[in-house]
Amino acid sequence: MIKADSLITDIGKLITPVGPAPLLKDNLGALRIMEDIAVASKDGRIVWIGPSDKARVEVELEGSFHSAGGYTVMPGFVDPHTHPIFAGNRSDEFNMRIQGKSYQEIAAAGGGILNTVNATRAASGDDLMASGWDRLNRMVSEGITTIEAKSGYGLDTESEIKQLEAIRELDKRHPIDIIPTFLGAHEYPPEYKQDHNAYLRLLTEEMLPRIKEEKLAVFCDIFTEDGVFSISESRFFMSKAKKLGFKLKFHADELTDLGGASLAAEMGAISAEHLIFISDKGIEDMARSGTAAVLLPGTSFFLMMNKYAPARKMIERGLPVALATDFNPGSSHTQAISMIVTLACLNMKMTIEEAISAATLNAAYAIGLANDRGSLEVGKLADMIIFDFKDYHDLVYNWGVSHIEKVVKRGKVVFIRSHIFFKDSGPSAGAIVL
Ligand SMILES: [Zn+2]
Repeated sequence: MIKADSLITDIGKLITPVGPAPLLKDNLGALRIMEDIAVASKDGRIVWIGPSDKARVEVELEGSFHSAGGYTVMPGFVDPHTHPIFAGNRSDEFNMRIQGKSYQEIAAAGGGILNTVNATRAASGDDLMASGWDRLNRMVSEGITTIEAKSGYGLDTESEIKQLEAIRELDKRHPIDIIPTFLGAHEYPPEYKQDHNAYLRLLTEEMLPRIKEEKLAVFCDIFTEDGVFSISESRFFMSKAKKLGFKLKFHADELTDLGGASLAAEMGAISAEHLIFISDKGIEDMARSGTAAVLLPGTSFFLMMNKYAPARKMIERGLPVALATDFNPGSSHTQAISMIVTLACLNMKMTIEEAISAATLNAAYAIGLANDRGSLEVGKLADMIIFDFKDYHDLVYNWGVSHIEKVVKRGKVVFIRSHIFFKDSGPSAGAIVL
């Protein structure tokens, strides 16, 4: 008998990618599908997966029991690129944008990333945690059980640290796991707009060593883009970060083909992200280095761009492709990762199976955690979603709505969809009285 403290039975279909990660080429779309399954876990990790009718004889349960009611279970989503800790609200700017106002008009009205920087600098750590908490709750309700979270709206030492401390506290208190990334190189702050070298000195001589010393971030990220951090500035900053032991991530080739993907590959980065304008050379370089391509189709969609990252080409050339929401207040204000999966299928021509793997196991790979999560296998975290469909194609086919019935984090149910009072009455049960 296997000892367990949590058991989920009557799983109609268990759908999961299977390691080892990363999943490349044809393997990306090769999901394992098991029918009439149960999953047992202990201390948050899966200890047994087997036929539902064998659970009672093979598993000794001391703890909670849940039935999936014949519906589908998949691994919790991993979101490897988010910006969830910030103050303020940019709905005014969004409103201007959808009315066709230009970037300059929006900037003149105080919009853009510096709007968020000003609000975040002025906010207390408690304020950042309170708004962050609500956003994390929304993520869990969308089936996300692990995220990477970036700073980058402080752009001075104290404000960046304030953001990273909020991330650390939220990780301790909230069921979602949060992997922190220092993104002080998100933009040049107004006070250093004319003196890039001085900001690079602040980043490398003051911020990086303090963040390292206080163990506030695992990854270091930079916005390598025309008009933001150039290739040589990025190389300078990231080599200092690498020397201090940070793992590297790049915002690369989002708006122009500047060569950020090749730089990420050259520097041995764990991932390069966005990649809408990546060149063929960038793809070849990343394929050689094994750098994960974290694609963010929600950003293309929300910015009303007609261009998406060339996912098919990347998969064919053997890049580890992952998906993320890019949740942030400006260019992708959504936690709906199932919608990201839908956009990946519709606008980047990924298959449903590929998109599921890219938002789970390969997403975990892109933050260095594929040994631990991203698929439902014995030994991994019991992070699971119970959906309300029997056919997993509904995740994409019945688009833009939530299919999530329950979310399980480390073996514990952390989200149950609000009760629908008339769900079980059926059309023949007569009038619905509420
Ligand atoms: Zn981003």
